[in-house]
Amino acid sequence: MGIQVEIVTPERRLVSGEFDLVTLPGVDGQMGIMRGHAPLLSTLDIGEIILHAGSDTQYIAVSGGVVEVRPDKVTVLADTAERAEEIDVERAQAALERARQSLAENPPPQRRVVMEAALRRSSLRLKVASRRRMRQRQAPTFEESEA
Ligand code: ATP
Repeated sequence: MGIQVEIVTPERRLVSGEFDLVTLPGVDGQMGIMRGHAPLLSTLDIGEIILHAGSDTQYIAVSGGVVEVRPDKVTVLADTAERAEEIDVERAQAALERARQSLAENPPPQRRVVMEAALRRSSLRLKVASRRRMRQRQAPTFEESEA
């Protein structure tokens, strides 16, 4: 039996299901949670959530939030969250470029903090989007493998 995982943003419910293992970007590093984990409440960093169920692995980009862990359930309230296959790569590249340009102009401290966070979000989105492409290469569809 796995652990129930709910991932919601202010806009939508992104994930609701049972998984064998979920790894989350805690502020002190990536944490792995399975059924039976001790209860905890933690803030989340900008990072990747990885959901494992049997041989299936799903990748999600989150930009911070909170997680509540109970022995049978993980609830994530994320600021923003996108599945790997939903990420608009051109948009993330444009956001990365804007953040890089802004940081190169030596902005005042408050703007620097904002742009550093934008840079981390866009880099993360590009990383998570590339995982989708890796998975597609590793696991061709029936049609592709027959071609
Ligand atoms: P941008 O400058 O491109 O808006 P951002 O990092 O400022 O990027 P956020 O404020 O983190 O964007 O997110 C705003 C909304 O847009 C959220 O719903 C988020 O899920 C979505 N979003 C942001 N970037 C992307 C992307 N590259 N692909 C898909 N959805 C995205």
